[in-house]
Amino acid sequence: MGMTMRILVVDDDESLRGILAMVLGDDGHLVTTAESGEEALELYLADPFPLVITDIRMGGMSGIELLQRLKETNPETEVIVITSYASVDTAVTALRLGAYDYLVKPFEELEFISNVVARAVEKIRLVHDNRRMLDNLVRNRSELEQMNRTLQDLAVRDGLTGLYNRRYFRETIAMEVNRCRRHKGSFSLAFLDVDHFKIFNDSQGHPEGDMVLKTLAELLTERLRKTDVIARYGGEEFVFLLPETHKANGVYCAETVCRLIAGHDFTGTNGQSLGQVTVSIGVAAYPDDGADAEDIVRRADEALYAAKTGGRNRVSAAPDGGA
Ligand code: GH3
Ligand code: MG
Ligand code: MG
Repeated sequence: MGMTMRILVVDDDESLRGILAMVLGDDGHLVTTAESGEEALELYLADPFPLVITDIRMGGMSGIELLQRLKETNPETEVIVITSYASVDTAVTALRLGAYDYLVKPFEELEFISNVVARAVEKIRLVHDNRRMLDNLVRNRSELEQMNRTLQDLAVRDGLTGLYNRRYFRETIAMEVNRCRRHKGSFSLAFLDVDHFKIFNDSQGHPEGDMVLKTLAELLTERLRKTDVIARYGGEEFVFLLPETHKANGVYCAETVCRLIAGHDFTGTNGQSLGQVTVSIGVAAYPDDGADAEDIVRRADEALYAAKTGGRNRVSAAPDGGA
Protein backbone atom coordinates (compact mmCIF):
# COMPACT_ATOMS: atom_id res chain seq x y z
CA MET A 1 0.00 0.00 0.00
CA GLY A 2 1.45 3.33 1.08
CA MET A 3 -0.58 5.16 -1.57
CA THR A 4 -1.73 8.57 -0.44
CA MET A 5 -5.11 9.75 -1.64
CA ARG A 6 -7.19 12.85 -0.98
CA ILE A 7 -10.37 11.60 0.60
CA LEU A 8 -13.50 13.54 1.55
CA VAL A 9 -15.41 12.15 4.56
CA VAL A 10 -19.03 13.30 4.93
CA ASP A 11 -21.06 12.59 8.03
CA ASP A 12 -23.28 14.71 10.29
CA ASP A 13 -22.12 12.63 13.26
CA GLU A 14 -18.97 14.18 14.64
CA SER A 15 -17.66 11.03 16.34
CA LEU A 16 -17.99 8.99 13.15
CA ARG A 17 -16.14 11.67 11.20
CA GLY A 18 -13.45 11.53 13.87
CA ILE A 19 -13.05 7.75 13.64
CA LEU A 20 -12.87 7.75 9.85
CA ALA A 21 -10.43 10.64 9.78
CA MET A 22 -8.21 8.89 12.29
CA VAL A 23 -8.20 5.49 10.58
CA LEU A 24 -7.64 6.90 7.10
CA GLY A 25 -5.09 9.41 8.37
CA ASP A 26 -3.16 6.52 9.95
CA ASP A 27 -3.25 4.76 6.58
CA GLY A 28 -1.47 7.79 5.13
CA HIS A 29 -4.35 9.52 3.34
CA LEU A 30 -5.13 13.22 3.27
CA VAL A 31 -8.57 13.47 4.83
CA THR A 32 -10.98 16.39 4.60
CA THR A 33 -14.27 16.26 6.50
CA ALA A 34 -17.68 17.81 5.87
CA GLU A 35 -20.73 17.92 8.14
CA SER A 36 -23.37 17.87 5.42
CA GLY A 37 -23.98 16.93 1.82
CA GLU A 38 -24.18 20.61 0.91
CA GLU A 39 -20.82 21.41 2.46
CA ALA A 40 -19.29 18.31 0.84
CA LEU A 41 -20.53 19.32 -2.59
CA GLU A 42 -19.13 22.80 -2.19
CA LEU A 43 -15.71 21.46 -1.17
CA TYR A 44 -15.79 18.94 -4.00
CA LEU A 45 -16.69 21.49 -6.67
CA ALA A 46 -13.93 23.80 -5.50
CA ASP A 47 -11.33 21.02 -5.71
CA PRO A 48 -12.60 17.52 -6.68
CA PHE A 49 -11.68 14.47 -4.62
CA PRO A 50 -11.08 11.11 -6.30
CA LEU A 51 -12.71 9.33 -3.35
CA VAL A 52 -15.68 10.39 -1.20
CA ILE A 53 -16.99 8.47 1.80
CA THR A 54 -20.46 9.59 2.80
CA ASP A 55 -23.13 8.65 5.27
CA ILE A 56 -26.47 8.02 3.58
CA ARG A 57 -28.89 9.34 6.15
CA MET A 58 -28.14 12.97 6.89
CA GLY A 59 -30.20 16.08 7.55
CA GLY A 60 -30.52 18.13 4.34
CA MET A 61 -28.98 16.55 1.27
CA SER A 62 -28.87 12.77 1.66
CA GLY A 63 -25.85 10.65 0.85
CA ILE A 64 -27.75 9.17 -2.10
CA GLU A 65 -28.37 12.64 -3.53
CA LEU A 66 -24.75 13.61 -2.95
CA LEU A 67 -23.67 10.42 -4.72
CA GLN A 68 -25.81 11.30 -7.72
CA ARG A 69 -24.48 14.84 -7.88
CA LEU A 70 -20.88 13.64 -7.69
CA LYS A 71 -21.39 11.01 -10.40
CA GLU A 72 -23.03 13.61 -12.63
CA THR A 73 -20.07 15.91 -12.17
CA ASN A 74 -17.47 13.21 -12.74
CA PRO A 75 -18.47 9.55 -13.21
CA GLU A 76 -14.95 8.49 -12.23
CA THR A 77 -15.34 9.80 -8.71
CA GLU A 78 -15.47 6.78 -6.42
CA VAL A 79 -17.99 6.91 -3.61
CA ILE A 80 -18.24 4.65 -0.56
CA VAL A 81 -21.50 4.97 1.39
CA ILE A 82 -22.04 4.39 5.08
CA THR A 83 -25.26 2.81 6.21
CA SER A 84 -26.68 1.19 9.33
CA TYR A 85 -27.71 -2.43 9.75
CA ALA A 86 -31.30 -1.32 9.87
CA SER A 87 -31.22 0.17 6.39
CA VAL A 88 -28.84 -1.98 4.38
CA ASP A 89 -31.33 -1.83 1.48
CA THR A 90 -30.35 1.81 0.88
CA ALA A 91 -26.80 0.56 0.33
CA VAL A 92 -28.14 -1.55 -2.52
CA THR A 93 -29.73 1.58 -4.03
CA ALA A 94 -26.39 3.36 -3.69
CA LEU A 95 -24.52 0.54 -5.43
CA ARG A 96 -27.00 0.68 -8.30
CA LEU A 97 -26.33 4.40 -8.60
CA GLY A 98 -22.62 3.75 -8.96
CA ALA A 99 -21.27 3.62 -5.42
CA TYR A 100 -18.10 1.55 -5.24
CA ASP A 101 -18.86 -0.17 -1.91
CA TYR A 102 -20.51 0.40 1.43
CA LEU A 103 -19.55 0.40 5.11
CA VAL A 104 -21.96 -0.65 7.85
CA LYS A 105 -22.08 1.26 11.08
CA PRO A 106 -21.47 1.00 13.95
CA PHE A 107 -18.00 -0.05 12.88
CA GLU A 108 -16.93 -3.30 14.51
CA GLU A 109 -13.50 -3.70 13.01
CA LEU A 110 -11.58 -0.56 12.09
CA GLU A 111 -9.42 -2.70 9.82
CA PHE A 112 -12.50 -3.37 7.74
CA ILE A 113 -12.72 0.34 6.93
CA SER A 114 -9.05 0.33 5.95
CA ASN A 115 -9.54 -2.62 3.63
CA VAL A 116 -12.59 -1.27 1.80
CA VAL A 117 -10.90 2.10 1.29
CA ALA A 118 -7.65 0.44 0.19
CA ARG A 119 -9.50 -1.46 -2.54
CA ALA A 120 -11.16 1.74 -3.78
CA VAL A 121 -7.82 3.57 -3.75
CA GLU A 122 -6.25 0.72 -5.72
CA LYS A 123 -9.01 0.91 -8.34
CA ILE A 124 -8.64 4.68 -8.70
CA ARG A 125 -4.90 4.23 -9.11
CA LEU A 126 -5.32 1.57 -11.80
CA VAL A 127 -7.79 3.65 -13.81
CA HIS A 128 -5.46 6.63 -13.56
CA ASP A 129 -2.37 4.66 -14.65
CA ASN A 130 -4.32 3.09 -17.47
CA ARG A 131 -5.42 6.48 -18.72
CA ARG A 132 -1.87 7.76 -18.61
CA MET A 133 -0.53 4.78 -20.56
CA LEU A 134 -3.27 5.21 -23.13
CA ASP A 135 -2.49 8.91 -23.49
CA ASN A 136 1.18 8.08 -24.02
CA LEU A 137 0.30 5.46 -26.57
CA VAL A 138 -1.87 7.86 -28.54
CA ARG A 139 0.76 10.57 -28.38
CA ASN A 140 3.61 8.26 -29.43
CA ARG A 141 1.49 6.95 -32.25
CA SER A 142 0.69 10.36 -33.71
CA GLU A 143 4.36 11.33 -33.37
CA LEU A 144 5.26 8.19 -35.26
CA GLU A 145 2.73 8.94 -37.98
CA GLN A 146 4.06 12.48 -38.31
CA MET A 147 7.60 11.12 -38.61
CA ASN A 148 6.54 8.62 -41.24
CA ARG A 149 4.88 11.36 -43.25
CA THR A 150 8.04 13.44 -43.09
CA LEU A 151 10.20 10.51 -44.17
CA GLN A 152 7.84 9.71 -47.00
CA ASP A 153 7.86 13.35 -48.07
CA LEU A 154 11.65 13.36 -48.12
CA ALA A 155 11.61 10.34 -50.40
CA VAL A 156 9.16 11.71 -52.96
CA ARG A 157 9.73 15.48 -52.85
CA ASP A 158 12.31 17.72 -54.41
CA GLY A 159 14.31 19.65 -51.83
CA LEU A 160 14.42 23.05 -53.54
CA THR A 161 10.84 23.43 -54.72
CA GLY A 162 8.87 20.95 -52.60
CA LEU A 163 7.34 19.54 -55.77
CA TYR A 164 7.34 15.80 -56.41
CA ASN A 165 10.61 14.38 -57.67
CA ARG A 166 11.33 12.56 -60.89
CA ARG A 167 11.08 9.12 -59.33
CA TYR A 168 7.63 9.83 -57.92
CA PHE A 169 6.51 11.21 -61.26
CA ARG A 170 7.72 8.04 -63.00
CA GLU A 171 5.63 5.89 -60.67
CA THR A 172 2.61 8.15 -61.05
CA ILE A 173 2.57 8.17 -64.83
CA ALA A 174 2.93 4.36 -64.92
CA MET A 175 -0.07 4.04 -62.61
CA GLU A 176 -2.04 6.59 -64.60
CA VAL A 177 -1.45 4.67 -67.84
CA ASN A 178 -2.70 1.46 -66.21
CA ARG A 179 -5.75 3.23 -64.84
CA CYS A 180 -6.60 4.78 -68.22
CA ARG A 181 -6.17 1.43 -69.97
CA ARG A 182 -8.74 -0.17 -67.69
CA HIS A 183 -11.23 2.69 -67.78
CA LYS A 184 -10.61 3.93 -71.33
CA GLY A 185 -9.54 7.21 -69.78
CA SER A 186 -7.16 9.88 -70.95
CA PHE A 187 -4.59 12.25 -69.49
CA SER A 188 -2.33 15.02 -70.71
CA LEU A 189 1.34 15.41 -69.95
CA ALA A 190 3.30 18.65 -70.21
CA PHE A 191 7.08 19.12 -70.16
CA LEU A 192 8.18 22.60 -69.17
CA ASP A 193 11.71 23.97 -69.54
CA VAL A 194 12.95 27.44 -68.59
CA ASP A 195 14.17 29.45 -71.57
CA HIS A 196 17.83 30.49 -71.69
CA PHE A 197 18.24 29.71 -68.03
CA LYS A 198 21.98 29.35 -68.42
CA ILE A 199 22.19 32.99 -69.48
CA PHE A 200 19.95 33.99 -66.56
CA ASN A 201 22.20 32.18 -64.08
CA ASP A 202 25.31 33.67 -65.61
CA SER A 203 23.99 37.22 -65.38
CA GLN A 204 21.98 37.11 -62.13
CA GLY A 205 23.75 34.40 -60.16
CA HIS A 206 22.79 30.90 -59.15
CA PRO A 207 20.89 31.86 -55.95
CA GLU A 208 18.57 34.12 -57.98
CA GLY A 209 18.10 31.22 -60.39
CA ASP A 210 17.04 29.07 -57.47
CA MET A 211 14.53 31.72 -56.47
CA VAL A 212 13.05 31.62 -59.96
CA LEU A 213 12.68 27.84 -59.79
CA LYS A 214 10.90 28.11 -56.42
CA THR A 215 8.59 30.80 -57.73
CA LEU A 216 7.83 28.72 -60.81
CA ALA A 217 6.86 25.83 -58.55
CA GLU A 218 4.50 28.14 -56.65
CA LEU A 219 2.93 29.49 -59.82
CA LEU A 220 2.33 25.98 -61.12
CA THR A 221 0.90 24.81 -57.82
CA GLU A 222 -1.46 27.81 -57.65
CA ARG A 223 -2.57 27.56 -61.24
CA LEU A 224 -3.09 23.80 -61.58
CA ARG A 225 -5.58 21.59 -59.77
CA LYS A 226 -5.06 19.59 -56.61
CA THR A 227 -5.45 16.37 -58.58
CA ASP A 228 -2.76 17.37 -61.09
CA VAL A 229 0.68 15.93 -60.35
CA ILE A 230 3.47 18.50 -60.63
CA ALA A 231 7.08 17.38 -60.45
CA ARG A 232 10.56 18.76 -60.90
CA TYR A 233 11.93 16.52 -63.59
CA GLY A 234 15.47 17.84 -63.68
CA GLY A 235 17.43 21.06 -63.13
CA GLU A 236 15.12 23.64 -64.75
CA GLU A 237 12.64 21.18 -66.17
CA PHE A 238 9.21 20.56 -64.75
CA VAL A 239 6.42 18.18 -65.71
CA PHE A 240 2.77 18.23 -64.94
CA LEU A 241 0.35 15.41 -65.45
CA LEU A 242 -3.31 16.33 -65.87
CA PRO A 243 -5.58 13.35 -65.18
CA GLU A 244 -8.81 12.98 -67.18
CA THR A 245 -7.76 15.73 -69.57
CA HIS A 246 -7.94 15.39 -73.35
CA LYS A 247 -5.08 16.70 -75.42
CA ALA A 248 -6.86 19.89 -76.54
CA ASN A 249 -7.59 20.81 -72.93
CA GLY A 250 -4.05 19.90 -71.93
CA VAL A 251 -2.69 22.27 -74.59
CA TYR A 252 -5.09 25.00 -73.48
CA CYS A 253 -4.00 24.57 -69.87
CA ALA A 254 -0.30 24.66 -70.83
CA GLU A 255 -0.91 27.88 -72.74
CA THR A 256 -2.44 29.61 -69.74
CA VAL A 257 0.55 28.47 -67.64
CA CYS A 258 2.97 29.76 -70.28
CA ARG A 259 1.25 33.17 -70.37
CA LEU A 260 0.98 33.35 -66.59
CA ILE A 261 4.75 32.83 -66.25
CA ALA A 262 5.66 35.26 -69.04
CA GLY A 263 3.52 37.92 -67.36
CA HIS A 264 4.93 37.37 -63.89
CA ASP A 265 7.34 39.83 -62.33
CA PHE A 266 9.88 37.58 -60.64
CA THR A 267 11.37 38.69 -57.34
CA GLY A 268 14.93 37.95 -56.23
CA THR A 269 16.42 36.91 -52.90
CA ASN A 270 16.59 40.53 -51.73
CA GLY A 271 13.15 41.47 -52.96
CA GLN A 272 14.59 43.05 -56.11
CA SER A 273 12.81 42.62 -59.40
CA LEU A 274 14.32 39.99 -61.68
CA GLY A 275 12.14 40.92 -64.62
CA GLN A 276 10.72 38.45 -67.03
CA VAL A 277 11.34 34.73 -67.33
CA THR A 278 9.77 32.62 -70.03
CA VAL A 279 9.29 28.92 -70.47
CA SER A 280 8.63 26.52 -73.30
CA ILE A 281 6.15 23.69 -72.91
CA GLY A 282 5.60 20.48 -74.85
CA VAL A 283 2.33 18.57 -74.52
CA ALA A 284 1.44 14.96 -75.32
CA ALA A 285 -1.57 12.92 -74.29
CA TYR A 286 -2.71 9.39 -73.63
CA PRO A 287 -4.02 7.64 -75.65
CA ASP A 288 -3.49 10.01 -78.64
CA ASP A 289 0.31 9.93 -78.58
CA GLY A 290 1.23 6.49 -77.35
CA ALA A 291 0.27 3.32 -75.53
CA ASP A 292 2.68 3.44 -72.61
CA ALA A 293 4.43 5.89 -70.33
CA GLU A 294 7.70 5.83 -72.29
CA ASP A 295 5.90 6.84 -75.49
CA ILE A 296 4.03 9.71 -73.88
CA VAL A 297 7.13 11.04 -72.14
CA ARG A 298 9.16 10.85 -75.35
CA ARG A 299 6.45 12.62 -77.38
CA ALA A 300 6.07 15.39 -74.79
CA ASP A 301 9.84 15.85 -74.79
CA GLU A 302 9.86 16.06 -78.58
CA ALA A 303 7.07 18.63 -78.47
CA LEU A 304 9.11 20.65 -75.96
CA TYR A 305 12.05 20.60 -78.38
CA ALA A 306 9.70 21.85 -81.10
CA ALA A 307 8.59 24.72 -78.85
CA LYS A 308 12.25 25.66 -78.28
CA THR A 309 13.18 25.59 -81.94
CA GLY A 310 9.93 27.35 -82.79
CA GLY A 311 11.09 30.42 -80.86
CA ARG A 312 10.56 29.64 -77.11
CA ASN A 313 7.96 31.21 -74.78
CA ARG A 314 5.35 28.96 -76.37
CA VAL A 315 3.49 25.66 -76.25
CA SER A 316 3.80 22.86 -78.78
CA ALA A 317 1.68 19.77 -78.97
CA ALA A 318 2.94 16.42 -80.19
CA PRO A 319 1.79 16.18 -83.83
CA ASP A 320 -1.22 13.90 -84.24
CA GLY A 321 -0.78 10.52 -85.88
CA GLY A 322 2.71 9.71 -84.61
CA ALA A 323 6.11 11.40 -84.69
P1 GH3 B 1 17.04 26.61 -73.33
O1 GH3 B 1 16.18 27.77 -73.58
O2 GH3 B 1 17.47 25.94 -74.57
O3 GH3 B 1 16.42 25.67 -72.36
O4 GH3 B 1 18.35 27.20 -72.65
P2 GH3 B 1 18.90 26.88 -71.23
O5 GH3 B 1 20.03 27.80 -70.98
O6 GH3 B 1 17.80 26.95 -70.24
O7 GH3 B 1 19.34 25.38 -71.36
P3 GH3 B 1 20.54 24.57 -70.83
O8 GH3 B 1 20.08 23.17 -70.71
O9 GH3 B 1 21.75 24.85 -71.72
O10 GH3 B 1 20.91 25.14 -69.43
C1 GH3 B 1 20.14 24.83 -68.32
C2 GH3 B 1 20.61 25.69 -67.19
O11 GH3 B 1 19.81 25.54 -66.04
C3 GH3 B 1 22.02 25.35 -66.80
C4 GH3 B 1 22.00 25.36 -65.30
O12 GH3 B 1 22.90 26.26 -64.78
C5 GH3 B 1 20.61 25.78 -64.95
N1 GH3 B 1 20.12 25.02 -63.82
C6 GH3 B 1 19.79 23.73 -63.77
N2 GH3 B 1 19.41 23.39 -62.51
C7 GH3 B 1 19.49 24.49 -61.75
C8 GH3 B 1 19.24 24.79 -60.38
O13 GH3 B 1 18.85 23.95 -59.58
N3 GH3 B 1 19.43 26.06 -59.97
C9 GH3 B 1 19.87 27.02 -60.83
N4 GH3 B 1 20.00 28.25 -60.35
N5 GH3 B 1 20.12 26.77 -62.10
C10 GH3 B 1 19.95 25.54 -62.57
MG1 MG C 1 16.84 22.07 -69.82
MG1 MG D 1 16.23 25.59 -70.37
